[in-house]
Amino acid sequence: MVYQPDENRYQRMAFRRCGQSGLKLPAISLGLWHNFGDTTLVENSRALLQRAFDLGITHFDLANNYGPPPGSAECNFGRILQEDFLPWRDELIISTKAGYTMWDGPYGDWGSRKYLIASLDQSLKRMGLEYVDIFYHHRPDPETPLRETMQALDHLVRQGKALYVGISNYPADRAREAIDILNDLGTPCLIHQPKYSMFERGVEEELLTMLQEKGVGSIAFSPLAGGQLTDRYLNGIPADSRAASGSRFLNADQLTAGKLETVRQLNALAEKRGQKLSQMALAWVLRDDNITSVLIGASKTSQIEDAVGMLANRHFTDQECADIDNILNS
Ligand code: NDP
Repeated sequence: MVYQPDENRYQRMAFRRCGQSGLKLPAISLGLWHNFGDTTLVENSRALLQRAFDLGITHFDLANNYGPPPGSAECNFGRILQEDFLPWRDELIISTKAGYTMWDGPYGDWGSRKYLIASLDQSLKRMGLEYVDIFYHHRPDPETPLRETMQALDHLVRQGKALYVGISNYPADRAREAIDILNDLGTPCLIHQPKYSMFERGVEEELLTMLQEKGVGSIAFSPLAGGQLTDRYLNGIPADSRAASGSRFLNADQLTAGKLETVRQLNALAEKRGQKLSQMALAWVLRDDNITSVLIGASKTSQIEDAVGMLANRHFTDQECADIDNILNS
């Protein structure tokens, strides 16, 4: 059956301006790191994308290496895009990145002009697109001159292959330098994509304030710490969960008794607020205007529905913020 998006899709989503740019992003964006590779049934991936768009999630985040195997998330997304979403291309923000190992040899990794330009060409072919909305440098490269990497981003915008550019995983000092170079080149940095959740608060030290001063937006990846900040692991490790999947990013060893006790206390606080822990964890990341969007992952459509349900209860009292800090610091 031909996909027809829900006509009420913009009624529940909140949109936030990305830094001082003209672009607004949905408060919730969907990432395709997991559940879009060749090990997932394409019909499940399609259901996730359709449910997300039906609920007003207009922003899909990819990278050259998402899979497995690397590249397959872009191929599968491209197929679903061609089959279901082409009439709505102008309602979508599609992001991709390059910066991690993608192909053999010295030109398939890090941050050279050679790698970035070839990689975006490959991504566009895999997705069947003429341009992406946002192209990121995925991680800082300690060896390539920063100016070369930023010049490659600027060049891709001038070629029309990306509308905006961003950086990801850059610490505050490197990010500041990158933002200044991009301004100098005339292609402002739209957005930074750092890891940020109740369990990963490093960005609060310097990065978020610096981004606000520079007028650059931010999108927090892994806001649920890969599923730890949900009720998923409160009664063991479900067979269909990320922690049971053999992921090197989340495994049983990380789910210590101490961590689970913290999650239990946070869960009780969320219940008092009348929401799920996953919803409280997302609302908490968005409590600060400095964060443009939370970048979630999902294996089931119900998880996307949970996330959007969070928008109805985003306010925290000072006491609730203090309680959360106490739980996290205990
Ligand atoms: P999250 O922290 O949002 O974790 C998502 C996982 O949490 C889901 O796959 C699911 O796991 C579980 N989950 C989600 N909602 C619920 C719920 N309501 N109840 C119970 N469990 C739930 O984000 P990710 O770590 O997946 O990262 C999100 C995106 O961020 C990526 O897709 C990618 O786009 C981006 N990213 C960027 C990086 C970078 O270097 N720039 C690095 C990592 C991610 P389960 O499978 O167990 O159901």
